Amino acid sequence: MDISVLKDDLAALSIGMTDRQAEQFSQYGDLLLSWNERMNLTRIVETTAVCRQHFLDSIMPIRYVKLDGKSLIDIGTGAGFPGIPLKIMLPDMKITLLDALDKRCRFLQEVVNQLELTEVTIIHGRAEDIARQEDCRQQFEFATSRAVARLSILSEYAIPFLRTNGTFLAYKLDDSKSELSESENAFRILGAECTKSESYLLPGVEPERILYFIDKKSPTPDKYPRRAGLPSKKPL
Ligand code: SAM
Repeated sequence: MDISVLKDDLAALSIGMTDRQAEQFSQYGDLLLSWNERMNLTRIVETTAVCRQHFLDSIMPIRYVKLDGKSLIDIGTGAGFPGIPLKIMLPDMKITLLDALDKRCRFLQEVVNQLELTEVTIIHGRAEDIARQEDCRQQFEFATSRAVARLSILSEYAIPFLRTNGTFLAYKLDDSKSELSESENAFRILGAECTKSESYLLPGVEPERILYFIDKKSPTPDKYPRRAGLPSKKPL
């Protein structure tokens, strides 16, 4: 895939890219489109749209927060967004990609192999189940999630994975602001607080996006997350 749009957009934000990173984005784009013909990975298939709505959007947090060398879990990563673009830009990050659909995990493994990415763990399962495993619970410095569920539900998925003082970066559309007030109860129960938000516009793409920074202030009570399916059925 020709990723010159991504290169130019990043240059306009004073973010550089090595030849190796450009090659990895190009390979990733090719794999995404070819596997998409056989399985449902994305509705966005036009090159500029992939560069902006998938790659650039995924990378945006690096403008606002230092993620290099940190541990991060991407919940409901699907075809790898935002986890894979973040890993390409920040190769020293230790990244875990989690998704409930096995076929998407097979695609992700192929991407990791072809792009020769290291320190990437792929987990097939539901966030509610995996967050109860000792090697995942309260282990990560950062969690991310995009286009998976409303914020109150997402918080129950993501916050149990974080260490105290860790941060959940929730990627949202700007028209989802009502989700924030709706999530206050969940934040309180789960020991977290929204401390910051950053709005940005992707070139030529409406509406504005918003990134919420939800900081974990205290350990999550053992009771959470509740059993699989319950957070979405009965949000906190
Ligand atoms: N994050 C990607 C993106 O922004 O393109 C994928 C978004 S896709 C609409 C939602 C993904 O979340 C799907 O791949 C689905 O399997 C996954 N998902 C939904 N609920 C989940 C859960 N409870 N645990 C793990 N994955 C989940």
